[in-house]
Amino acid sequence: MALKYCPDCGKLYVENAVGLCPACYAEQEQDELKVADYLREVKRASLEEIHQATGVRHKVILRMLRAGRIFAGAEVSYPCETCGEPITQGRLCAKCSRNFLEQLPPARKEAPEASQERSRMYTKDIFKRE
Ligand SMILES: [Zn+2]
Ligand SMILES: [Zn+2]
Repeated sequence: MALKYCPDCGKLYVENAVGLCPACYAEQEQDELKVADYLREVKRASLEEIHQATGVRHKVILRMLRAGRIFAGAEVSYPCETCGEPITQGRLCAKCSRNFLEQLPPARKEAPEASQERSRMYTKDIFKRE
């Protein structure tokens, strides 16, 4: 059995499948019940609204979302990790995940023109030489 530091409270605990110390796990279970009850009532809420209504930390709500432990009929919106736009699935909004997938720097739009410019200059150079 390995000892690990609890990611929530920082205390050493014996490693388990949950990934939290027993005290934090018990607390998280209570938190998840609160969130589930709230969502069953409102059906749709943002991360912030859930936090305000239940007092459950953002971190715990996000962990529930990522683990798929949110009440199935509910829709929860939370901010995109890059730009803060509200999203309901994944970690990034459509725009940011597209940028992320293409892995393009923001200056990409200027690239085609710049290369045209370069080839024009190159053509001029050839004429000069003739
Ligand atoms: Zn803990
Ligand atoms: Zn985004």
